[in-house]
Amino acid sequence: RILTIRESEQLRFRAMLDSMPQAVLLADASLRVLEANPAAGRWLGRLGGTAPRRLERVGDVDLVPLAREAVGGTPTGALARFEDGTRMAVSLSALRAGEPGELVIVLSDVTEQQRMQEQLAQAEKLSSLGRMISGVAHELNNPLTAILGHSELALRELADDALARRARLVHDEARRCQRIVQTLLRFARRQDPERKPVVLSEVVQAVAALTGYQLRADGIEVRTEIAPDVPAVLGDVHELQQVLVNLLVNAQQAIRETGKGGTVAIRATRSAEGGAVLEVEDDGPGIPDSIRSRIFDPFFTTKSPGTGTGLGLWLVYGTVVSHGGAVRVESEEGRGARFHIELPAAPEQPAEAVRRGDGRSEEPGAGTAGASVLVVEQSEPVARFVCDALAADGHACAWEPDPGVAVERVRRDGFDLILCDAGMRAPDGGELGAAFELARPGVSVRVLWTSAGEVACDARVPTLLRKPFDLAEVRRLVRAKLNARA
Ligand code: ADP
Repeated sequence: RILTIRESEQLRFRAMLDSMPQAVLLADASLRVLEANPAAGRWLGRLGGTAPRRLERVGDVDLVPLAREAVGGTPTGALARFEDGTRMAVSLSALRAGEPGELVIVLSDVTEQQRMQEQLAQAEKLSSLGRMISGVAHELNNPLTAILGHSELALRELADDALARRARLVHDEARRCQRIVQTLLRFARRQDPERKPVVLSEVVQAVAALTGYQLRADGIEVRTEIAPDVPAVLGDVHELQQVLVNLLVNAQQAIRETGKGGTVAIRATRSAEGGAVLEVEDDGPGIPDSIRSRIFDPFFTTKSPGTGTGLGLWLVYGTVVSHGGAVRVESEEGRGARFHIELPAAPEQPAEAVRRGDGRSEEPGAGTAGASVLVVEQSEPVARFVCDALAADGHACAWEPDPGVAVERVRRDGFDLILCDAGMRAPDGGELGAAFELARPGVSVRVLWTSAGEVACDARVPTLLRKPFDLAEVRRLVRAKLNARA
């Protein structure tokens, strides 16, 4: 009876081990496998071994030093990565009531868990970096507005050709900064991105034309393949162009590394589900397995500090995700890389409503000269630029940095238009717009809001002049505001 009871206990115990999804192994101190449950058998098969064998390595983890530690009485563990992306948690501990030096090794598949954790960490990194970028871009917007504006004014006033050339240079470079800041801000300010129907074939063609010359100079052929049925997507045309530019620059740098020329293909097609697919494929050196999971991380780069920032693919990832899409990379070392982006199709629209490229709206007619404008703005250089620009259009402009005084001046003098930084509050902490309204009861006060940062466009802020703005923009919006029937 005792023997029967013991046998049934042993069977139960064995059944317990056998039904575990984790691989459980018993090994001696030199890691020779003595016993293994079926899950472990499957794993050993996958690891390419036949029992009995030594289990000295699991994925990229060397078990020998861990075994030494475990035999000494300290349970240890590690996270093992396999080439196919599988992750296994490995734990080793000494078998207590057994031969001295025997070890219990448990392997569990944590691939899915790890993937989710990484996604969470990625999202976290993205949002904190987004906040930081938005802060920095915000700070840059006032000085950039002033540089843009004053250099443009100087350009008009300068008779000296050499000086005018310098002013043009300053202005063009400031414009470049403006575009960078806007891309960063739009990226960070995800709650308020532009969402208009975008024709992807035009995005592909624009980017191919933009980068083609540089790529060909490096002996790289650019091929575009555009299917006739690519659906339009809802998005921001500049952001989507930036995504392609980043991928092309990476392809160019990768191919350049090989010292030979190469080919880059840009494709726009329709997915089986009816969405849009963008692909950029190169025949460069490809991306090693060891870094593939990290290339979308912010600041991850394998390039020298002058060449790489590690932000290119991070921006690609963030932009695609904010467009409701997904991006993945397929790459074999030595055989190039293919970035595959899927974007949801825009809801059906009448053809003429589809926005093509970046057509600016028509300038409203002039005939508004002689208006009185109050510029409520803390930055003096920005205010001076706006006042000079508006004075050239024949308006009488006054500057007021203090919002409280501004409300007083509006009450006293009335103004045809108030150009006001939306980041400012009324002296009582309330809405400045409401304070202006109260100052002129019964009169509809025209306010053109400007913003250096992430002021959401709500109903009360129908027109917003985003800093950094330039001469044409401020004149256009002021004119439109003055022309509009209040
Ligand atoms: P950066 O280009 O500034 O390094 P990215 O985020 O654009 O930053 O890219 C991160 C890393 O991904 C690069 O440093 C490079 O190692 C790798 N990578 C990206 N695209 C390719 C490609 N087409 N071929 C090979 N490696 C690439």
